[in-house]
Amino acid sequence: MCIRDRPCTPTAPPLPRGDALPVAQLSASAYEDLRKCPYRFFALRQLGLKEADELDAEVDKRDFGLWLHETLKRFHEALAAAPTSAAGERRAMLDAAAEAATRARRLAPEEFLPFAATWPQARDGYLAWLAEHEAGGARFAWAESWREQPLGRVTLVGQIDRLDHTGHGEAATALVLDYKTEALQTTRERLKRPGEDTQLAFYAALLEDDALRAAYLNVGEKGPTTFVEQDDVVAARDLLVEGILEDLSRIAEGAVMPALGEGVVCEYCSARGLCRKDFWSVA
Ligand code: SF4
Repeated sequence: MCIRDRPCTPTAPPLPRGDALPVAQLSASAYEDLRKCPYRFFALRQLGLKEADELDAEVDKRDFGLWLHETLKRFHEALAAAPTSAAGERRAMLDAAAEAATRARRLAPEEFLPFAATWPQARDGYLAWLAEHEAGGARFAWAESWREQPLGRVTLVGQIDRLDHTGHGEAATALVLDYKTEALQTTRERLKRPGEDTQLAFYAALLEDDALRAAYLNVGEKGPTTFVEQDDVVAARDLLVEGILEDLSRIAEGAVMPALGEGVVCEYCSARGLCRKDFWSVA
């Protein structure tokens, strides 16, 4: 935008270097930033800049996601302590977990109403999936666990939603699950292009198991729960680890960190005012 009678002075895209700011810790979302836009990683993760928190009293989809994670953690821990396969008992246990999570998160019932209204469908869809999952030999192991894994000079960090075990003896395999409450199509799209989605591979890198599977679990707000598995996550983990080491060594050697974000990546970027993408001169 130009002020009338003043010449426009567009700016050039930024090209900082991040070698003076060593990266000590790396989460899955931070690495996603680096892959999508090196400048965003530089600004938000290395300089540590962030938007001021706004007071937001409204319950939104993110609150629903956090609430669901807590509800399922409480439910599975209660079920592990008092196992039952009776559908009515499981339903009551899951409702009790949901109520406890609502109280613990201090969600106002009237604001949570839209999500509460669809809960019976989501609950029944989840329990139906769980019964099938267990019939295939899967067993809950733990939920919401913080993990750290050293890798060269960086420590990979992250909270894994859940780990199950499948099979026994030599066939025993760990299964990482990551809950999603987005549209099912969005979850499926994540795994359509091999190598593009790094979240499950990153969680796999936080674990030492070599007999490992990983999947997104799309918990439909109004319907079925759907299991969306990543093929050969151990191979994806090896590729990811190689990529992380390579990317971080390039940063340490002083490679420039250009603002390469495009489209939807830039739409929800809190560094947009910093990279000044809206004011770049276009050659
Ligand atoms: S707005 Fe786009 S180009 Fe600018 S920092 Fe964010 S992701 Fe990068």
